[in-house]
Amino acid sequence: MASPREVARGAPAVNSVREAVAELVDVERTYLMGNEEVHALDGVSFRVARGEYWSIMGASGSGKSTLLNVMGCLDRPTSGEYRLADRDTGGMDDDELSELRSRKLGFIFQSYNLIPQLNVLENIMVPLFYQDHPPEDGLERARHLAGRVGLGDRMDHKPTELSGGQQQRVAIARALVNDPELILADEATGNLDSQTAEEILELFDELWREGKTLLFVTHEAHVAARASHVLQMRDGNIEEIDVRDRAKEIQDHGIQGSSR
Ligand code: ADP
Ligand code: MG
Repeated sequence: MASPREVARGAPAVNSVREAVAELVDVERTYLMGNEEVHALDGVSFRVARGEYWSIMGASGSGKSTLLNVMGCLDRPTSGEYRLADRDTGGMDDDELSELRSRKLGFIFQSYNLIPQLNVLENIMVPLFYQDHPPEDGLERARHLAGRVGLGDRMDHKPTELSGGQQQRVAIARALVNDPELILADEATGNLDSQTAEEILELFDELWREGKTLLFVTHEAHVAARASHVLQMRDGNIEEIDVRDRAKEIQDHGIQGSSR
């Protein structure tokens, strides 16, 4: 018999309870600075459902990077629960956590973080090297993704031979190579001129329309405005979650998004 989850998956998007990709329950992250405790995250709870597009905003020091690090399994909560792709990360050791990270997450950073010695194709494949059982079609996937982000004729170029926008496209392809459940980005357009930034944001839109789940940190309101959910951080807490009109569009691509 089908489980409730399977039923929900197969049901039309309008009626279905959308599956949670990431869920935080009362997450705290406390740093000790001398004798003083810094509550970088102070009891944060929210859930990101499949196909949603979240942006995280907030003043410097409000906890955005700490939140992204926890959601990216690069850091652990001091207390509370973080679930990713239906797994509770709390009981996992470091190896399990990095395996989960390499299978379920795609990262895009402000500074691209490409490996200078590797060419475009090799850089795209990097996340696969961290998997215990990398897919056999890795090279094929990387080629396809290079084309997808408009670098089909640059596959053997090194990062230094590319513009900033091209490097960020490589980083996006790299973030997609493991077909992640969740794509995390930290100020992904922060270093780009506005025209190039716009192209990158259009690429994000495209991924979202295909049913990908995205979450990124930005300090620019016009970037945040493209998301379906805008989460405002303040002093380690959620100040506000603004569910935008765009969230309704999710239903339009919901069936496609849940069918992979
Ligand atoms: P944001 O990304 O919104 O600027 P952060 O998540 O980097 O904020 O930081 C939130 C708070 O936690 C800040 O007060 C910051 O100083 C503190 N913090 C962040 N990382 C550390 C750390 N490694 N050690 C001590 N305090 C930290
Ligand atoms: Mg930060």
